[in-house]
Amino acid sequence: MNLNHPITYIKGVSVARAELLFTELGIKSCNDILHFFPFRYIDKTQFYTINELTQNTAEVQVVGKIKAVKEITQQRGSRLVATFYDGTGTLDLVWFKGAKWIKNSLKTDVPYVIYGKLNWYNGVANMPHPEMETVKEYKSKPQTAMQPVYPATEKLANKGITNKILRGFIQNLFEQFFDIIEETLPDYLLKEHQLLDKKESLFNIHFPKSQELLAKAQYRLKFEELFFIQIQLLQKKLIRKSKIKGYVFEKVGEYFTDFYTNHLPFELTNAQKRVLKEIRKDIGSTAHMNRLLQGDVGSGKTIVALLSMLIAIGNGYQATIMAPTEILAIQHYNGIVELLEGTTIKVELLTGSTRIKKRREIHTGLEDASVHILVGTHAVLEDKVRFRNLGLAIIDEQHRFGVAQRSKLWQKNQAPASLDKKGVILLEKYKTEHPKIYKLHKEIALKRKNKTSKEERVLWDVLSTISTTSKFIRYYIIDEFLIDFICLEKKLIIEVNGKYHTTEVQQEAINLRTEVLTAFGYKVVRLNENQIINTLEKTIARIIATLKILPTIIVQKSVPPHVLVMTATPIPRTLAMSVYGDLDISVIDELPPGRKEIKTVHRYDSNRLSVFKFLKDEIDKGRQAYVVYPLIEESEAMDYKDLMDGYESISRDFPSPKYQISIVRGKMKPADKEFEMNRFIKGETQIMVATTVIEVGVNVPNASVMVIESAERFGLSQLHQLRGRVGRGASQSYCILLSSFKLSSDSKTRLQTMVDTTDGFKIAEVDLKLRGPGNIMGTQQSGVLNLKIADVVKDTAILQKARQTAINVLEEDASFSNPKNASLLKVYSQIQKTSGLWSNIS
Ligand code: ADP
Ligand code: MG
Repeated sequence: MNLNHPITYIKGVSVARAELLFTELGIKSCNDILHFFPFRYIDKTQFYTINELTQNTAEVQVVGKIKAVKEITQQRGSRLVATFYDGTGTLDLVWFKGAKWIKNSLKTDVPYVIYGKLNWYNGVANMPHPEMETVKEYKSKPQTAMQPVYPATEKLANKGITNKILRGFIQNLFEQFFDIIEETLPDYLLKEHQLLDKKESLFNIHFPKSQELLAKAQYRLKFEELFFIQIQLLQKKLIRKSKIKGYVFEKVGEYFTDFYTNHLPFELTNAQKRVLKEIRKDIGSTAHMNRLLQGDVGSGKTIVALLSMLIAIGNGYQATIMAPTEILAIQHYNGIVELLEGTTIKVELLTGSTRIKKRREIHTGLEDASVHILVGTHAVLEDKVRFRNLGLAIIDEQHRFGVAQRSKLWQKNQAPASLDKKGVILLEKYKTEHPKIYKLHKEIALKRKNKTSKEERVLWDVLSTISTTSKFIRYYIIDEFLIDFICLEKKLIIEVNGKYHTTEVQQEAINLRTEVLTAFGYKVVRLNENQIINTLEKTIARIIATLKILPTIIVQKSVPPHVLVMTATPIPRTLAMSVYGDLDISVIDELPPGRKEIKTVHRYDSNRLSVFKFLKDEIDKGRQAYVVYPLIEESEAMDYKDLMDGYESISRDFPSPKYQISIVRGKMKPADKEFEMNRFIKGETQIMVATTVIEVGVNVPNASVMVIESAERFGLSQLHQLRGRVGRGASQSYCILLSSFKLSSDSKTRLQTMVDTTDGFKIAEVDLKLRGPGNIMGTQQSGVLNLKIADVVKDTAILQKARQTAINVLEEDASFSNPKNASLLKVYSQIQKTSGLWSNIS
């Protein structure tokens, strides 16, 4: 017996109930239900009599009997009502759902203990959906002061799996299997951190013997959960550093030196210098760089990016910088071209609206390495874009890019797999005839994960040790196919047909897949699972024979470019630790000198006139201003109206020709957007009316006022980003938050925070507290949202301890080979098998 067995091993869990628990709560094994924790506890030490009940008693426990049961049918459905009495009065128990099931189970004249919330209606109380058990049942159980309440779903309750029943299952589980619950942390860690052991922790989290033990159990389980996440993140980082080789940029090179001494328009801040050193250290070693650069808006990340790219170019490599919007890409392009004037570096811009002819020219330039720097949008990621030798890829405002998109960068240098005409037709045929299978392959390939069958493992054990000059690789991507085993030097592919490859359609798809791969120039050997198991020796002999016949070709191993991702959205330190714990992090925590702190005020709509007056004064001084309207996707039409109304009213208050106004919104054609942006950048217009398209990155140093309309509708980080559009020059800048009078308490906190501070990290902390980690970038992939008990916002102290402990353990024994770490090895191998955290892409 072990705890991985299905929950049907637990007394009282029928197959039907097990299925329900699985579909509703994802609970499958005994271990799952053991780790399905209560979300609160109720105190059941106290009993009430019915005449004691008042409107103030929220949840109560009463002993009594059922007198009568009746079903009341109404238009809106029927309900079941039972009259409950205890000698001091009567109370109606009500069920709106599951009446049938409950009616049959209720017994009159048997003493019950009931528990539930009271509903008051015209001074009379009733209790909807009470928990009940007979006094006999109640007495037969160990009585604990606190009873667990599980986060059950409504559907479960309707199907008869109430909180009480869940509790019963877990109780039975403890009775049956308590002894086989294994400790997951080594003894020395338990002692060092005075942690409750696993058995006691699990028992007390479900059935606390006391408040004190409950607290200890919670602490231990939180610690354990965070500890293992940190172990995973840190291991991933170790593996990346030791296994994944990066290009070595040995020198800073002449481009860097020349630019630094002759063209740099300003002295770098100390923070910029420090970060540049950190980057140089990475790219100068054999390890692959995967670094996150955090720096508040206006902190000067772009120049750091440029200098890093110059190092790459000076070492004979190409570089690319990607931005999430076309406006930003254009701005980066213009800025970089201007800075590099007088050098021989060739920079190109590639976006969705680059014309075909130009596009082809760029493709060629990238392939023959005559283009040194490619600035662009998502267009850079397209498969057609191939580099001769991309050494450094930079992603600006990285939260706008998905993981899958970023992962594409890793393959940019691989020679494009070439298909002949017949191959192209075959691939098309495959895509159209088996779209579902193709899509599935694509997904699997992107995630780079697949289920390994027993047979595949057996085969891999042999293949990985076949001692010829040629080596097999497990999992390799060609086009969208995830190949099982491949020997690149021989262009030999071995694939195992899984058990699901049985239908005729599947068979057809397989055949086509083989044809496509053959068209790519590979020899494909397909094995059935029983071939592997029954005639392994013969099969292997055949493979070796095939290897001998095939000519050996020289393959150029592709090395991924170094990756630098930049973000202006600060992530609180503790969260960064758990979300990006595997990345290296650099922070620019200093603004360029001479910047004046932006003055921020909050005004109500009714003050608009004085705000406009203020705008006029600033414009008269030669400054420019932004007026930003919210854009929320669901109500785009309405927002558009708001924007146009706003534009009209501003046009009235700021009449032409004295005032010129630009307007930019997301849905405009890129060319029109650029035209309007450029008028503003050149100073031809004084006011920029816009939706949040200007949120990221836009740089117009002469703009000194940011007016945000309906500021209560923006999130904190968005407000902070918007405000960062001003304060980029030497003059005093202002941010005016306009809102309606009616504000929720969260909105008030947000606006007040903006008024109080310009420190991005402080703002991020408040944001995290208000919104929880779910809305912060990167958390979706990190696993912190799937935490069962710990909370990255509230449990930061435990998190820090867990991380430090994980670091210490790994420094001493990264492979867990020391016997004292045997329990860690066991858990770690288990996680590795199941966790989705294991892609090498971050
Ligand atoms: P962000 O980090 O928001 O991307 P930018 O790179 O756009 O910031 O820089 C903001 C502005 O500050 C730019 O106009 C840039 O030229 C300027 N800048 C950057 N570094 C310095 C510095 N060390 N001294 C003076 N100005 C700087
Ligand atoms: Mg920027």
